[in-house]
Amino acid sequence: MTGKRLFGTNGVRGITGADMTPTLVLSIGLALGSMRAGSIAVGRDTRTSGPALCSAVKAGLLATGCDVTDCGILPTPALQYLVKEHFDAGAMITASHNPPEYNGVKVIEPDGTEMGDEETLRLEAKILDERVPLSPWNATGREVHASHLVREYTDAVVKKFPAGIGEGITVAVDPGCGAACATTPEILTRLGCRVVTLNGQMDGTFPGRLPEPSPDGLRPLGNLVRSTGAALGIAHDGDADRAVFLDENGEFIEENQEFGIIAGQVCRDRKGTVVMPVSTSRLVEEIARRNGCDVQYTPVGSIYVARAMRALEAAHRPVAFGGEGNGGLIYPDHQYCRDGGMTAAMMVAILAREHGPASDLVAALPSFTLIKEKIRGADPSAMIRNLCTAFAGDHIDRTDGIRINREESWALIRPSGTEPLVRVIVESTEEKIARAFFDEIMEKIRPS
Ligand code: MG
Repeated sequence: MTGKRLFGTNGVRGITGADMTPTLVLSIGLALGSMRAGSIAVGRDTRTSGPALCSAVKAGLLATGCDVTDCGILPTPALQYLVKEHFDAGAMITASHNPPEYNGVKVIEPDGTEMGDEETLRLEAKILDERVPLSPWNATGREVHASHLVREYTDAVVKKFPAGIGEGITVAVDPGCGAACATTPEILTRLGCRVVTLNGQMDGTFPGRLPEPSPDGLRPLGNLVRSTGAALGIAHDGDADRAVFLDENGEFIEENQEFGIIAGQVCRDRKGTVVMPVSTSRLVEEIARRNGCDVQYTPVGSIYVARAMRALEAAHRPVAFGGEGNGGLIYPDHQYCRDGGMTAAMMVAILAREHGPASDLVAALPSFTLIKEKIRGADPSAMIRNLCTAFAGDHIDRTDGIRINREESWALIRPSGTEPLVRVIVESTEEKIARAFFDEIMEKIRPS
């Protein structure tokens, strides 16, 4: 969509030793150092390849004259918070939810957001084509280690909530041996919760489960919730910009429902626009509107959500909340990026405020049927063109792929950003309507 060659929607990623190498990361460090002169913060998740790749990015930054502060292992949102407060840019060595053999780099702008498409294209051009000027001996950068700085992030999250709000609440936390092993238990303990953990030791071999917090991988957390009588199970992806939840019975709360529950609380106190990608369940729009907020849809990818929220703020229009239906939620009075630690604390605050079990919060949501399908072997742009013609009589949104909006249902047909396939999502309040709409789309895609 954007012509980027190395970077996807969340930085550059690859398999360690194959397409993700110290050589590549060194060139990213050199390119970034030449674009964002000044003081740069670096950090990493727990992956085994982290020290080598972090050293490589630091070498590039130092050689181009940047001062480097190494913040050690910390969640991506913690580094983003520190960059926003103190630094001229940041580089996070992480592959987020990808399996252990992957690693990558997320580049962070001075405002704490991930680098947008335009600047990323400039960065790529420097990585691929240009010889970056190196600093002479008397102008190379200096490095300091500052793993204590992460405390500023946990302080900032804790200060958002009334003291002791978690008192009397037991939570079971599974950071998956990833970047939030220290921070999320600390945040929740400081809010007054009794915290029990699983996979709470930092370990880049991820011995307990994969970094993606899937319902399957969280079965042991479900057992821990039940055996400890916890009110909530909390899990993160590898770099903890996302948080997902289990209710008091150990049942997985679907991420669009999580978004809906938290949007309901945020929008009660804060009016404005709720921003989300076109792939999000209409459940969130419905809850936002019930609470007197309006909505804005963006292309799929958290940077588009974050940038749309920033644009609203810059235009002096109130922005209430934002996020994606995957547990990545953005709190504009905290920072403009997804924040798993903040989301964990927010869910505890909701439980404290509602005085009911987590399963009641889910049961109170309007119900929707969501159908998801992948189509391989098609020409995506021809398919989208044909669908635009076939559904010309409907309300069509071309923000990303094609979204067809109807009174009681909607559908999104969109080429995948990472794989050679097209994704189809259909949703309705009624299962029958969703099924019929899905069949109608498939018929138009595959005329017999
Ligand atoms: Mg992540």
